Amino acid sequence: MNMVFSTGEELLEICKSENISISEAAIRYELMISERDRDEIYEEMRLNLKTMKDSIKKGLSHKHVSMSGLVGDDSITMLEFASQAAMGERMAKIVASAMAVTEVNATMGCIVAAPTAGASGILPGVLIEFAHQHELDDEMILKGLFNAAAIGVLIAKNASISGASGGCQAETGSASAMAASALVEMRGGTPLQSLDAAAMTLKNVMGLVCDPVAGLVECPCIKRNALGAVNAVLCSDMALAGIKSIIPFDEVVTTMKNVGKMMHIDLRETAKGGLAATPTGIKIAENMAKAKQKTSQADNSKRD
Ligand code: SF4
Repeated sequence: MNMVFSTGEELLEICKSENISISEAAIRYELMISERDRDEIYEEMRLNLKTMKDSIKKGLSHKHVSMSGLVGDDSITMLEFASQAAMGERMAKIVASAMAVTEVNATMGCIVAAPTAGASGILPGVLIEFAHQHELDDEMILKGLFNAAAIGVLIAKNASISGASGGCQAETGSASAMAASALVEMRGGTPLQSLDAAAMTLKNVMGLVCDPVAGLVECPCIKRNALGAVNAVLCSDMALAGIKSIIPFDEVVTTMKNVGKMMHIDLRETAKGGLAATPTGIKIAENMAKAKQKTSQADNSKRD
């Protein structure tokens, strides 16, 4: 059977006719399109998982200073507050993990772009911290990552995973949809429930713009990863409870693409609109430009 799926419907059909999970369908897809065998594919995913775990650990181990100096320690602040969080300690720890990875990204540390660097916190934050809390082993997290990969492929094929082309809905929204679907499989849900969770996640952030202050993946990106983690867990819960997405996954993805196309260019990573265009956002960008100019002048005078 051809295992290369291009839509959610096709993916569901493969899962049904082969009686397999989404993660297994993703592995067979990769086997079919790559030159690699199953062991090699697993090996690469294990490496991704290790990098993800390391980035959470690094992010939560000490305070970081980002390029702008504005962010870097919110994950630790969140972790310290976790026991008092209204959303519950477990959810707060997932949020802290997601923020930790994006803080590592903002300080030029090593992360896994899943699917992008800007949205790199959601998938590891949700899957790894959830697995830790429920004593699930690495094999289960790997299943989650393969499941997430299938959702990422579908969104990339039929819409976009980039903030520059589709806004933040396409970037943190996609990461969140991937994590929601993965979590459903890790918790024993069906492929249809996975797609329902992914669809609901995307619907919840439909139209979210990409407006990084000073053009840096810091503000509002880190907090949007926090939101993405919550959205993923919420939608996995809704799907497992039996709540369905009224609009099917494929239609939601197509709509996300269309909404992205309608988005003004100022709201697609150009740092010209949204929060980047607020008085505070502009001031931060100006201060950064001045600091950069001073550094390059100092460098030039050293050379002279
Ligand atoms: S605001 Fe833009 S740069 Fe930041 S996470 Fe969202 S899509 Fe990425």
